[in-house]
Amino acid sequence: MPLLPAGAAMPQSAPPLTPPAPAIGDGGISLYVHVPFCLSKCPYCDFNTYQGIESQFGDFRTAVINELTAWSRALGRPVVNTVFLGGGTPSYLPDGDVARILDAIAGAYQVRSDAEITAECNPNDLTPAKCAGLRAAGINRISIGVQSLDNGLLALLGRRHDAGEAATAVAICRSVGFNNVNLDLMYGLPQQSLEQWRDTVARTAALAPEHLSLYALTLEAGTPLHRWVEQGRLPEPDPDLAADMYDFARVALRDAGYHHYEISNWSRPGLESEHNLAYWRNLQWLGAGPGAHSSFAGCRFWTVRSPREYARRAQEWAAAAGPWPSLSAEAIRAVPTVDDLEAIDDATTAAETMFLGLRLLDGMDVAAASARAGIDLAARYERELAALTAEGLLAWTADERLRLTERAYLVANQVFTRFLAD
Ligand code: SF4
Repeated sequence: MPLLPAGAAMPQSAPPLTPPAPAIGDGGISLYVHVPFCLSKCPYCDFNTYQGIESQFGDFRTAVINELTAWSRALGRPVVNTVFLGGGTPSYLPDGDVARILDAIAGAYQVRSDAEITAECNPNDLTPAKCAGLRAAGINRISIGVQSLDNGLLALLGRRHDAGEAATAVAICRSVGFNNVNLDLMYGLPQQSLEQWRDTVARTAALAPEHLSLYALTLEAGTPLHRWVEQGRLPEPDPDLAADMYDFARVALRDAGYHHYEISNWSRPGLESEHNLAYWRNLQWLGAGPGAHSSFAGCRFWTVRSPREYARRAQEWAAAAGPWPSLSAEAIRAVPTVDDLEAIDDATTAAETMFLGLRLLDGMDVAAASARAGIDLAARYERELAALTAEGLLAWTADERLRLTERAYLVANQVFTRFLAD
């Protein structure tokens, strides 16, 4: 497999690597790096992100490099298929920090030369210099949190940019050579009309991003937006109107030449998000950073959420990490940065493989998914598959892939629950 000519040496503090531990497998992993900083906290957001902790930038950078390097030593320098810097706001990190993190990854892991390497960005951060720096650092895919092109709704969402700045950010990305740009939009917002949404979708498509992610607002308990709706200061979002918005977007983006490949995601053909495909295919991923989740070796686990505590524990992990003879839940649970772990049993693996795979609208190859999961999914779910196809919610394609029917897109969660054990 071709490997990234990183131009980045192993960090000097890292001990020599030993031959690979076998358990991570030849298929490699995806890496997620959680950046817990935002200039300001949006009122709808319940992610593990903070404003006003910029004094911890340096500690975070050191900690995440320590954690990633320690994991590489433990796992025997695995192959990395994709890297995703998310958050939070990776573009808010000081200049040069993304490069240092990616250099550390390139030095410690076998990063594929064709790896998709994404950074989530806020429009205001994307100055020409910042954008050029991200590209020089090795980022090859930019994901911009646009959310809306209606300035009133952007203000309601507490965003710091306006529609013009979002468009300028896309233009700056183009000017420095980014040819894979995702734009995130939100619909089903309080006070959002169908007309506003139509306008946002049309103007966003005119910006010609390679990829679009459209998310219905979820009112998360504990957020200011949830409270404002509870208090009657804002109207409750109308689910029927949100469904109309989704249907409008499906038609408009199809007509604009986008491939609707996942319930909430559209792309130019061939430019689907490789990183997110790894999640939907229920493959292995390693998350670094405070509150990041990981999934491999039959376990789902997550790191401590507090950035300060995470930095302390990452230092401890870096000092202690050595090559593991094999992977086990006990070894993972003992990693200092790990907060908790749950073992994924066969029933969970089977259900997750089904409902993650069915999110992909071209359908899932049930035989291949069964082989990956080590479970005969067609046999396990024979009764459910027969019922759901009879109800017109699932269908088999000519090439024997199982897919959601179009009328199931808006009730997909009801389909997915049918795969959960009673
Ligand atoms: S910028 Fe993104 S991560 Fe940060 S608070 Fe807003 S929605 Fe949350």
